Amino acid sequence: MVNRSRRPRRARLLAIPLAAIGLVLGMAFPAQADNPTPTVVDSTRAGGMSVGFTFDDGPNPPDTLRLLGALREHHVKAVFCLWGDHVRQHPEVVRRIAADGHTLCNHGMHHDDMANWPAERIRADLMETSAAIRAAVPGARIPYFRAPYGSWGRTPAVAADLGMQALGWRLAIGDWDPPGTAELVRRLREGITPGAVVLMHDGGGDRSQTVDAVSSVIPALRSEGWHLSLPARRG
Ligand SMILES: [Zn+2]
Repeated sequence: MVNRSRRPRRARLLAIPLAAIGLVLGMAFPAQADNPTPTVVDSTRAGGMSVGFTFDDGPNPPDTLRLLGALREHHVKAVFCLWGDHVRQHPEVVRRIAADGHTLCNHGMHHDDMANWPAERIRADLMETSAAIRAAVPGARIPYFRAPYGSWGRTPAVAADLGMQALGWRLAIGDWDPPGTAELVRRLREGITPGAVVLMHDGGGDRSQTVDAVSSVIPALRSEGWHLSLPARRG
C-alpha cells in the first residue's frame, strides 16, 4: 500500500515550482520540433523552388560510388534509404555515404512489405536495420525511415517511436525499370514541383541510368532556378 502522506513535505513543496518551470520551458521551447511524428513527410525543409533527392535500395557498388562522385562534384547532399542486407554486404560504401555528409534513412532489413505487420515485428526489423547501419558507421544518425514499396501500414508510428520520421516522396521517376537516361531526365524536369521529395534508386539492379540522369539534371535544374534541399524533419 502506498501512503501518499508519507511523501516528505519538502518534496511536495518543491514539486509545484518545478512543474511550473517545466511548463514555462515547454512553452518557450516547443523545439521538440525535431521529434519525429507518425506522419509521412514528402516535402523539403526549404520549400519554394527546391527539390530533395532520395536514393533507395543501396548500397550498391559501383552505382552508389559513382553517384557519390556526381553529388560531390555538384555539391549536393541527398538522403540514402539503406537496405539492411546490402548494408551488411557493403559496409564500406555506407561509410563513404556518411563521410560525404549525406543523410541516412532506414529502409528495412530485407525489403519486406510491412503493410500488415504488427508493431512489434516492424520494431524488430527496424532496430535490426539501424544496428546494421551503426555496425558500419558507429554512432550514425538515422533520422528517417522509408517503408519498402511505400507500404506504410503501422510503420510511421513505430519509426517515430524509434526516433525516425517516415519519409515519403512526391515524385517517383520509375527508374526501377530503366527507360533510358534521357527519359529519366525528362521525367525529372517535367515532374518536379516546388518542395518535392524525389524518389530514385541507387540499388536493387543496374542503376547506371539513374546516376547519369542525376549528373546531367542537376546543372539543368539549377539553370532554371531550382536548388537542392533535404526533406523536412517532421510532418
Ligand atoms: Zn526500396
